[in-house]
Amino acid sequence: MGELLRSVMKIAFDLDDILSSFNQIFVDYHNRHYGTNLTFDDINDFYPPNVYMASEQECLRRIFEFYRTTDCDNLPVESGANELIDDLIKKGHELYVITARDPEISEHTLAWLKKNFDGKFKDVIMTKQFSQELGVNNHYKKSDACKKYGIEVLVEDAIHNAEDVAKEGIKAILITKPWNKKYKPTDPNIIRASNLNEIMRLRIL
Ligand SMILES: [Mg+2]
Repeated sequence: MGELLRSVMKIAFDLDDILSSFNQIFVDYHNRHYGTNLTFDDINDFYPPNVYMASEQECLRRIFEFYRTTDCDNLPVESGANELIDDLIKKGHELYVITARDPEISEHTLAWLKKNFDGKFKDVIMTKQFSQELGVNNHYKKSDACKKYGIEVLVEDAIHNAEDVAKEGIKAILITKPWNKKYKPTDPNIIRASNLNEIMRLRIL
């Protein structure tokens, strides 16, 4: 696959569940605070109301509450992320973060990235697709951010973001998570990888 891609590229990484283990920690937080008994594997749908059985507004309220906790400030780094990022930088690629998070919580987002990936990303773009004000998966699109910055590849876990960029001719590497494992991409611009280690092992990038 690697030879299809240019030797030096602008590559963007999603933040939650790609660089940070967001849902692994959020599901426990939710169990403790809201009386659920869910596991990470129960998150078989990206849309929180379908998992947490609360309204979209209430789910967003709980998620934004979580963003401001030390649990969220201390989210672990996903397995293989440090090695992959360092490898790509060594190969000369320019790396970006494109997150659906709202700029409203940018202080927390940027502090986490500084703590775990200081200086590794050229820019951090917050698309506000996950917003208390505008709802989930509103009109903002990651493909617009990719086009603006000339980004050629997006590493992502959300099906809708992978499809959105793929249809604009941008490659999406979709990392397998419980909420996308049944999905069968039809767009050739979507490449599936089991995890970040596999991107290196199979020389996808
Ligand atoms: Mg994500």
